[in-house]
Amino acid sequence: MEGKKEKTFKFVIVGGGIAGVTCVEQLSSQFPSEDVALFTAGPLIKAVTNYKQVSRTMEEFDVEEKPSSVLEEKFPNLTVIHSAVKSLHTHSHCVETADGRVFGYKKLCICSGARPKLLTQENPNVLGIRDTDSVQVFQKHLSKARRIVIVGNGGIALELVYEVKGCEVIWAVKDKAIGNTFFDAGAAQFLIPSLEANKAEVAGPCKRLRYTMEEPAPDAAQTFTADKYSRGQNPGTVEPGSALGPDWHRGIELQGAEQVSHRVSVEYQCEVEQIFTSEEFLLSSKQTLEADTGSWPVYVQLTNGKTFGCDFVVSATGVIPNTEPFVHGNNFLLADDGGLQVDDHMRTLQPDVYAAGDVCTACWEHSPLWQQMRLWTQARQMGWYAGRCMAADVLSESIELDFCFELFSHVTKFFNYKVVLLGKFNAQGLGSDHELLVRCTKGQEYVKVVLSRGRMVGAVLIGETDLEETFENLILNQMDLTSYGEELLNPNIDIEDYFD
Ligand code: FAD
Repeated sequence: MEGKKEKTFKFVIVGGGIAGVTCVEQLSSQFPSEDVALFTAGPLIKAVTNYKQVSRTMEEFDVEEKPSSVLEEKFPNLTVIHSAVKSLHTHSHCVETADGRVFGYKKLCICSGARPKLLTQENPNVLGIRDTDSVQVFQKHLSKARRIVIVGNGGIALELVYEVKGCEVIWAVKDKAIGNTFFDAGAAQFLIPSLEANKAEVAGPCKRLRYTMEEPAPDAAQTFTADKYSRGQNPGTVEPGSALGPDWHRGIELQGAEQVSHRVSVEYQCEVEQIFTSEEFLLSSKQTLEADTGSWPVYVQLTNGKTFGCDFVVSATGVIPNTEPFVHGNNFLLADDGGLQVDDHMRTLQPDVYAAGDVCTACWEHSPLWQQMRLWTQARQMGWYAGRCMAADVLSESIELDFCFELFSHVTKFFNYKVVLLGKFNAQGLGSDHELLVRCTKGQEYVKVVLSRGRMVGAVLIGETDLEETFENLILNQMDLTSYGEELLNPNIDIEDYFD
């Protein structure tokens, strides 16, 4: 391998998603005279724009897909290599690309993301949603669909069931309540009416911008519109692209073949037992169990005994980290969720190899108020911090774990409500050692506070509550709130003034 190296870069980053691009930006600007390389499978890269630190741990930003030339223009020391990494040779410090080229590195950061866990690979009517191209496939299937089955209870499923119009949705969740990854049963109850209500058209500009390969001019931003999608333009991506992120469905028409607004039925506490093609279904005895008649391209048998025919199935049951090209022949430690284990300096077990974003699993001793979730914000934070750790290592400087890993915080939107999640928002890992305070105004707001030994350790805020900063402070300060009791959520008290 040594002799085959085309070039050796000081820093090599694999993956043009938010983690990889943020890491590249950090290193290219800190070491303007060192060679930096970004290897990415897709033709476009993801960039963070309009970054805003909203409070000590909360942040907001937009995401743009851009041609990589924009990055190369900004950082003359950066080379972008558009080929997937096929193998990694940690002994000789080099990577081999799918097109057979070999490049050396001094320090490497793997940011190859994750892909959807599919219920089955074989059935073309079972779709996963990951990148812009898979959304196009989904949208095309949906335009002709009368009924779909969505399986999964995480963020993607939540967004889909709310956004899909003109098509009946059967939503199979393994838990007792919807949105279990983010909410408890109370919050789910608060949100359920939104699925039943007729959705008002949400107007407003689409923030996500996308450049196409046909029009690579960096300053010619294009809005990611439904029109563009319905014409089926495809930038020609063949390799897996980067995962989508906040607002991914804005501006994309998710319209089925029928004239209905929302028609969602939830099947609780069940998983998929089996998926049949229509031929398999006709041949099986299961058809006698089928409640509804009619012929469908695919049938889903659930563990609750029900079988549903549908046009297609969306498998939104989590992700698998993309580690395959890197692990073969190397001595990495993989976590139970399949991620590359990293320590508090984003280092893997292999010398000079770091990892960040969805591909890695944070295996340091976490702050009691933080947990890893494969989210956009954490991909940015990890990519940025990995870049700083690589730099500190090169400069023999010490570096402390970044403050962003002190408190989990996530700001998002579900069912058109603003949602803020803080700390152990679902009392994760607290067992029975906690109490909950809840305030709920139907259709307006849902506020839940998790207290442990009188201290606030987590919160769920749905709606325009305006409480996020005060609660963030109370969680970070770990002030004893025992004497305040339920007054904490008294709507007649201006809590901000109270704790000033
Ligand atoms: P990715 O963005 O997946 O990027 C990985 C990159 O690596 C890609 O460029 C890929 O082409 C490249 N790559 C992969 N393998 C190789 C290889 N062998 N060689 C070279 N390059 C390779 N998060 C939120 O916070 N809020 C949301 O609302 C939200 N919604 C989501 C909706 C959907 C439909 C999906 C799929 C995800 C959503 N997420 C959301 C999660 C978020 O998108 C991810 O956590 C985040 O994008 C991860 O970033 P990353 O850089 O680690 O990986």
